[in-house]
Amino acid sequence: MISNPISWPDGARCACAITFDMDADSLIHIARPADSHDRLYPISMGRYGPTVAMPRILDTYRRLGIKQSFFVPGWCLEQYPQTIEQILADGHEIGHHGYLHEDPIVTRDQQRMWFERALESHQRITGRKPQGYRAPVYNINQTVVDLLIEHEFRYDSSMMADDIPYVLKTAAGELNEMPVHWGTDDWPPFAHYDEIGYMMPVRGPSAGLQGFWEEFDAMYEAGGFFMLIVHPFLTGRLARWRLVEQWLEKTLRDKKVWFAPLAEISAHLDAQRVAGYQARIEQLPYYDGPVAATAE
Ligand SMILES: [Zn+2]
Repeated sequence: MISNPISWPDGARCACAITFDMDADSLIHIARPADSHDRLYPISMGRYGPTVAMPRILDTYRRLGIKQSFFVPGWCLEQYPQTIEQILADGHEIGHHGYLHEDPIVTRDQQRMWFERALESHQRITGRKPQGYRAPVYNINQTVVDLLIEHEFRYDSSMMADDIPYVLKTAAGELNEMPVHWGTDDWPPFAHYDEIGYMMPVRGPSAGLQGFWEEFDAMYEAGGFFMLIVHPFLTGRLARWRLVEQWLEKTLRDKKVWFAPLAEISAHLDAQRVAGYQARIEQLPYYDGPVAATAE
């Protein structure tokens, strides 16, 4: 049960988004800056995303007639311009995902530098300003929330405080939150990446994806919001994507679903609020300083 379900367009029962984070080989460069340029296995694993998986994914979306969202680090926009051109030509959304997939726990000034450098890449390469943001590894902090509001972003997609889109409010303004969670992320079932500290047991394609479909069934029943957070170099692999494609075909045929880019789902939330919908609001910052210090 969801206590304040949003009514979705055209009688749809559930809003759905498959969001890809196209990190490519940025992950190894930020994790191993001294010698990443000569670590050919992780570079090649990352490059599989923009070069082999992305054409496959875009082809499926074209065939099924759906538009979706991709989150791309600024450095990857610069490194893989042909892939970016194709994403835009097909009418999909590209969101901000840091510059080199940097973990946002840095000083305030460094955070601004990385954030604005990535924003500049987006504007130069895509010709537009992103409306949405997803923090690398979901590690958003208050500095980033403040930067998002300052730069008039419409939504974030890094936090986990609800099942359905909700609102983040600070003294400076508001932002919609399109919530993520680890149960609909392909990192736990599919990422094995010792060089950056992840030793996960890789699941078989159907076993690894099974949890996602159970998440969908519950969201569908409750009239909620189903979002996958996946990576081209993991879920875009041949056997896994074949299963996702089959699920998409079946779901689009048999269910009342609204597949849309996150920017559209966020705009729909705005419109619903104008029409009287009471969104749940999370007031930020959560805390003014270290919690343990106040308990001493
Ligand atoms: Zn990422």
